[in-house]
Amino acid sequence: MTSSVPSLRIGNGYDIHRLVPGRPLILGGQQLEHPAGLGLDGHSDADVLVHAIMDALLGALSLGDIGKYFPPEDPQWKGADSLVLLEQVVALVKARGWCVVNVDAVLIAERPKLKPHIEAMRSAIALRIGVAPDQVGVKATTNEKLGPEGREEGISCQAVALLQAL
Ligand code: MG
Repeated sequence: MTSSVPSLRIGNGYDIHRLVPGRPLILGGQQLEHPAGLGLDGHSDADVLVHAIMDALLGALSLGDIGKYFPPEDPQWKGADSLVLLEQVVALVKARGWCVVNVDAVLIAERPKLKPHIEAMRSAIALRIGVAPDQVGVKATTNEKLGPEGREEGISCQAVALLQAL
């Protein structure tokens, strides 16, 4: 009798952080320049792209969200490099017997122009997940000046991840 447990799992993740003065703007591990000198506020480096991907990976295995593993009230995650946290999430996924088939994410930001940085983001994320860059999709869109992203109050990201049993 074949197992009824599926060998594929899908997860989705979402994150948003506020844009504020005096903070770095880090997306996909890349430090970018915002034309108004804004950066993302948060306890860690506030990398919304990596945070959304981590939540997608955890969600695929119903393991909760990153707040459970890296609580913002815990001082050890202050200023944390989110790519290092991503490595820990991937280790958790692998320890449970799963590997990453692919991830896909969309960043929603009015400015700066993200296109010149997309390849570097994909490479950095792929390296930490342990997959090829073509298994990591990163896209960017403006919000047509609508909503909090459009008013440059924040930058958000949506991501999905597909896992396969090892
Ligand atoms: Mg976050």
